[in-house]
Amino acid sequence: MTKKSKKKTWDLVPAPESTSHVNIQSEYGLFINGKFQKSKKGKMYDTINPANEKKIAKITEATKADVDTAVLAAKKAYDNVWSKMTGAERGKYIYRIARILQERAREFAVIESMDGGKPIRESRDIDIPLAANHFFYYAGWADKLDYAFPNQKIKPHGVAGQITPWNFPLLMAAWKIAPALATGNTIVLKPAETTSLTTLLLAEVIQEAGLPPGVVNIVTGHGPVGAHIVNHAKVNKIAFTGSTGVGKYIHNALAGTDKSMTLELGGKGANIIFEDAAIDQAVEGIVNGIFFNQGHVCCAGSRLFVQESIQKEVLKKLKHRISTLIVGDPLDKNTDIGAINSNKQLKVIKDYVKIGQKEGADMYVGEQVLPKKGFWCAPTLFTNVSQSHIISKEEIFGPVLAIQSFRTVAEVIKKANNTPYGLSAGIWTDKGSKLFNMSSQLKAGVIWGNTFNKFDPGSPFGGYKESGFGREGGMHGLADYIKT
Ligand code: ADP
Repeated sequence: MTKKSKKKTWDLVPAPESTSHVNIQSEYGLFINGKFQKSKKGKMYDTINPANEKKIAKITEATKADVDTAVLAAKKAYDNVWSKMTGAERGKYIYRIARILQERAREFAVIESMDGGKPIRESRDIDIPLAANHFFYYAGWADKLDYAFPNQKIKPHGVAGQITPWNFPLLMAAWKIAPALATGNTIVLKPAETTSLTTLLLAEVIQEAGLPPGVVNIVTGHGPVGAHIVNHAKVNKIAFTGSTGVGKYIHNALAGTDKSMTLELGGKGANIIFEDAAIDQAVEGIVNGIFFNQGHVCCAGSRLFVQESIQKEVLKKLKHRISTLIVGDPLDKNTDIGAINSNKQLKVIKDYVKIGQKEGADMYVGEQVLPKKGFWCAPTLFTNVSQSHIISKEEIFGPVLAIQSFRTVAEVIKKANNTPYGLSAGIWTDKGSKLFNMSSQLKAGVIWGNTFNKFDPGSPFGGYKESGFGREGGMHGLADYIKT
């Protein structure tokens, strides 16, 4: 799929992050009722490093009986301890988790990159600090819920079932666990099967923080383990982040039950560049929007709309910038694009690239030399793309950008909204009025102005249409964990 050439733009000396401070066990049980336990009947499976295909550890495939034990532990902890505790007391535990995460940040960052393939710069500077910040943020809310919901009587749901994806493993766990604890719920969480390690490490942090047993339970395994959580009669709320397909399945499974749910699903974000934008910054924003985390971001700017008058210039600069991106060892601090999370996902991306070529779009692929072992994809652009092309409609979840042009504001709003998704968009312009006008017309839950992929615990995140519903982050993120 890539034109492999010997030419290297940069000859940087490797700067690998040390792994000597990292302690990974050879196998992990399930974290239930405050302890790591072996499953009675569950098998073990390998979690591998996608950058070299080497086995890192063995993980437990939980059974239905294990999920049952975890839910009952969570229910007991809810009834006997957590629902009776004051917000101020709950807050102390959440603060402790935040502080321990900060102390162990380097260890978490290295393991996140080894298990998921993302560049260490990203796990070190984004995933782990943001995860800790989410715990700090919601710890602050735990004793102030009366101010968040004035004049209302509020109650937690009870047991929250939470299912996370593989693209931001620890961060997604933090997005879900922190507000659930702050509002007084107890938890059974399942991380994604390919990236469970940092969530299991978080279970150690939860032990260290002294949380009462059963308040947070972690069960690992594949999709069916998630389905057992979703369908469990004693689970009162489901929070899911993942594909739209599985989101629809969960939506159907919960129809007619009184379980509350939040679904954060796929996206096909539009990054829109006007001729009055600061072009160099915008090009950096495009690169950040789609090549950041190998395009494994549901809010990625995977569709680029460039105003026709600057199309040539933007393309030239974009191609040049792509040629400077370093693809390779996720643990190397120079790396911009790490490994694709799994062979399965690499196949999905390769299939879309073939579809794009068949549809007649023009392809440009970065000339990076890809490592032989592991799962890799060079940054890829498609131009001459139309609205009807599959690559401009469906989520690819890889470093692949579909580029279209436009002339007027009205035209680009129509084009950008012409998608079943509605998660994110970016607008690049010198004119604040244009930005505000557009942001009120674009159907996307998050809209960035002259930047992309910026997150803050105080800012709610979530989608429209097939990108799901409910919000995570900010005060809004509390609302989905309580009944009024
Ligand atoms: P992706 O296609 O990006 O891997 P998925 O939606 O399949 O995303 O996975 C997101 C999370 O949902 C993972 O933890 C996965 O194990 C879980 N999952 C997959 N299938 C189901 C299901 N039927 N019910 C509940 N959870 C599921």
